[in-house]
Amino acid sequence: MGLLTIGAFARVSRLSAKALRRYDELGLLRPVHVDPSSGYRYYAVDQLERARLVAWLRRIGMPLALIGAVCDLYDASDAAGAAREVRAYWARAEADTAARRDLASFLLDHLSGLPADRAPHLPAQPPGDPAEKEDTTMTTTTELAIRYAAVTDRGMVRESNQDAAYAGPRLLAVADGYGASGAEAGAAAIEALRPLETLPASRAGDLLNALEDAVTRANEAVRGYDGSGTTLTAMVWTGSRLALVHVGDSRAYLLRDGRLFRVTHDHTVVQAMVDEGRLTPEEAASHPQRALLLRALDGAEASGRAPEVRLQEARAGDRYLLCSDGLSTVVREEVIRTVLGAAPTPEDAVHHLVSRARDEGAPDNTTCAAAFVHPPQD
Ligand code: MN
Repeated sequence: MGLLTIGAFARVSRLSAKALRRYDELGLLRPVHVDPSSGYRYYAVDQLERARLVAWLRRIGMPLALIGAVCDLYDASDAAGAAREVRAYWARAEADTAARRDLASFLLDHLSGLPADRAPHLPAQPPGDPAEKEDTTMTTTTELAIRYAAVTDRGMVRESNQDAAYAGPRLLAVADGYGASGAEAGAAAIEALRPLETLPASRAGDLLNALEDAVTRANEAVRGYDGSGTTLTAMVWTGSRLALVHVGDSRAYLLRDGRLFRVTHDHTVVQAMVDEGRLTPEEAASHPQRALLLRALDGAEASGRAPEVRLQEARAGDRYLLCSDGLSTVVREEVIRTVLGAAPTPEDAVHHLVSRARDEGAPDNTTCAAAFVHPPQD
């Protein structure tokens, strides 16, 4: 078969010779022949498809290692496998973008001193201008207060409780440990977040740095328990906003205006299959492998698997629930919504929810932490 010079191959593939040399260096597209004396690269016509695929994947920002894997699947005639990798990559990219969007909105909010969704609509005003007093949007800067409670229950089947929970004036956290030292790993992760409880009234950058430091500390704390790990879902309260850290399959819910929103995304293999359209949410709920975690705090270096961080505005009347999968697996979201909405206090909510899990046989440890947001005078 006739070989193409790099120039000819560049013309037919519509890639530059420079890009082709780069793909060769990266091991993504090797020329079939390199002249030993001149160093000239030669390509086969049937390498065109792979060249175009590489170019396409580069354009959507896929990391090089993953591009290699996708191309190998494609070359092995596993187009479905290649498609699955691309879909999974894109789901992760969108989740990362959503997390960055939250951070950007939080930063804008901080820089403008107003809720981010309102800032563009208001003219710049000197602070404290009495003419603006009647603008009700200004009242949103009023500090709110939270009431909180947490409870953890061994359940009715497990011999020990590997869940852990914490609730305080600034911090709520739920951890669901696994492995021989799962209970210790979960407790250590929560303990590593405790300094956030005394974080001074902070600027945006301080809060984000403090959160990142806390998660790094938590991951290092878990490293001491070989083969064990934990989920971690935690909220830090700043007086008008909530910062949320999440890794694993524990969950955070928000009840607002009578509607229940799941704030977190399960880091499970089964949820990834739902995201890729390979399972329906109903199939996922009863899937035997539903507890298989994609991400957890396991002490490993966090590259590419960092916990999600979200920031959101709090409103008076908001009710937040953090829970381990021992609750969400057996208690339907409709029941969670009703119980959370009807409870007079956070204590009542968490105890009532745990008893609902017991009504369902409580096959796993069950843990709940709740925070109700109030106007400060309440
Ligand atoms: Mn569990």
